[in-house]
Amino acid sequence: MERDRADEQDGVDRAARERVARRDEAVRAAVAQGLLGPGAPVVGLLDVTGIRESAAALRAAFEAVVPPGTPVLHAFAVKATPLVPVLRLLHAEGIGAEVAGPGELALARAAGLPPELTVLDSPAKTTAELREALELGIALNADNPQELDRLDDLVRSAPTRPTPPGAASTWTASDSDSASASSALPRSPLGIRVNPQIGGGSIGATSTATRTSKFGVALRDEGAREWVVRAYLDRPWLTRLHAHTGSQGIPLPLMARGVAETYALAEEINARIGRPQIDTIDIGGGLPVDFTGEAEAPTYAEYARLLAREVPGLFDGRYGLVTEFGRSLLAKHGTVVARVEYAKSAGGRRIAVTHAGVQVATRTVYAPAAWPLRIAAYDAEGRPKAGPEVVQDVAGPACFSGDLLAEGRALPPLEQGDFAAALDTGAYYFAHHYGYNSLARPGIYGFAPDPAGGVAFATVRRPQTVPEIVAESGGAHVDALTTLNAPGSR
Ligand SMILES: *Cc1c(COP(=O)(O)O)cnc(C)c1O
Repeated sequence: MERDRADEQDGVDRAARERVARRDEAVRAAVAQGLLGPGAPVVGLLDVTGIRESAAALRAAFEAVVPPGTPVLHAFAVKATPLVPVLRLLHAEGIGAEVAGPGELALARAAGLPPELTVLDSPAKTTAELREALELGIALNADNPQELDRLDDLVRSAPTRPTPPGAASTWTASDSDSASASSALPRSPLGIRVNPQIGGGSIGATSTATRTSKFGVALRDEGAREWVVRAYLDRPWLTRLHAHTGSQGIPLPLMARGVAETYALAEEINARIGRPQIDTIDIGGGLPVDFTGEAEAPTYAEYARLLAREVPGLFDGRYGLVTEFGRSLLAKHGTVVARVEYAKSAGGRRIAVTHAGVQVATRTVYAPAAWPLRIAAYDAEGRPKAGPEVVQDVAGPACFSGDLLAEGRALPPLEQGDFAAALDTGAYYFAHHYGYNSLARPGIYGFAPDPAGGVAFATVRRPQTVPEIVAESGGAHVDALTTLNAPGSR
């Protein structure tokens, strides 16, 4: 066992070294191939090899703790990296999609994800969205009693699953007050999202399981648990239970407690009903990412083993599993690289003025203490810079003084024409453009080794053009306001 863990750590360290080597080669190649330079001063780079490795690690981690044949769907939280080619790559690696809203659902469909690999979880689903999901057969989790009311109506006319003869998953109208004449289950697997209210982590904005979190049915509120149990008793078509209690800043043991509470509730509900009506538990995502170092820590294997130890009944084969990891699948595999336009100093502080700031690293710029990013320095040819470090600010292009990627950071001195790379930005960063100062969305390129020993790039998203910015900023409606109620008109 000890030996296995030591080998596992060696593997994690080796993977990290290889990731750094791939990234350094990609930055150099991006400069050499002209993807990055004076005319394209900021890009996002995605490491295809690394993404594949993380997807494989996720699958292997859970395969190692469930009996063979247990259905496990890993649904990537699309919000982490809402890019169609990324969803397609993950799909090719056996990963589905967790979507929240029509945009993300459309991205998943454009990537070719079938309904059975898609889960819809938004706290604000409209009736039209619910109806569409039911028609497609997409799994969804009701967030609150009002949403469940809507489902009661919609389920009556929703397409049903083909049920094998004699299967236990059929039910009759007499099972339930709210049952329709149909005895088959809706094609969409349906559940309720609960909030076990286990408490928050170190970052308020990403703590989903606080007492007053806006997500799910707050399980410890008065009467809530009994309401949930009754909801399942009355609705044989509720076959799943969902909680997403983790996220950046939440320690693993707290995440495991959230899963344990969810499992205990499923057991209670099934015992009250007298049969295993809940057949699948969706444990959410939220594995934290280490933004301070290169290695992946914690690993999926560590988390899966912790869950198997703390909640063994969840892994004995009676329940199918859904997971919804986002950040941990992509963060380490993305890099923002930005050209240093000017190097200057103010008040004795060196400042590198780059083209990456609030538009690509919004959370870091507005909440630097919660979301610090590592910065790597590259020279004008895209080679890693070495040499004595000096304390400097790495600033972005936006016109407010807080637009800093890093403040007072010790780095080899960044000079005009060098490049600064913001590391671990594959999730919730460059794919989440913020249009401050009408700064263009940068191009995003995937990279992988090419057969000749170099680096091959593929366009994931081309850079936004200036005419597109004008068009998206009302360019087609230039006279809209001057002609509205203009003097002389009525
Ligand atoms: C955001 C979100 C996730 C993914 O969270 P990560 O921290 O990126 O892993 C999973 N499930 C739901 C419901 C979410 O809202």
